[in-house]
Formats: sequence, C-alpha cells, structure tokens
Amino acid sequence: MRENVECVMCEKGEYKEVHKTEIFLDKYLIEDAHLYECDTCGSDVIPQEENRRIMEKVKKLENSALHRLMNKVKSWLFLPSKIQIL
Ligand SMILES: [Zn+2]
Repeated sequence: MRENVECVMCEKGEYKEVHKTEIFLDKYLIEDAHLYECDTCGSDVIPQEENRRIMEKVKKLENSALHRLMNKVKSWLFLPSKIQIL
C-alpha cells in the first residue's frame, strides 16, 4: 500500500504508515507492528504481508515459550537449588 490511500471507513482521511504496539489474538503483544492508520478517524488496517509476518512471529513465540517452559521444568526436576524466577 502507498501513501495517500483514502480511508474506507470515513472516506475523508488518508492512511499513514504507523509503527505501534498491537495485541493480536488477544494475547500476543507485537511491539513493532507496521500498520496503516487513518489520519482522520484513526481506524487502522494491517497489510496482508504484515499480517503474515506477525503470524510467523506468533508461531516462533509459541515455539520458544514451550521451549522455555521445558527448560524450567527440567531445572525443577534436576537443579532445584538453582531455580530463578524471572
Ligand atoms: Zn478514516
């Protein structure tokens, strides 16, 4: 998407590229989401390729969260004196 695209919601504003923090799927905080936000009514849209990029991030996050949990479980089982809750 380019600059100067008319907002589909209010038909007055134009979309501007913004970088902001958004919550996806009610639980994932994405701190560098690239969205287009209307400069008049504030409604925003996510470009399809950005949506894809974020879904990739979410997938990685889910994988690494599981990985961290597994490491924690291992440390509970084998090294109880070294547990650190961060
Ligand atoms: Zn608008």
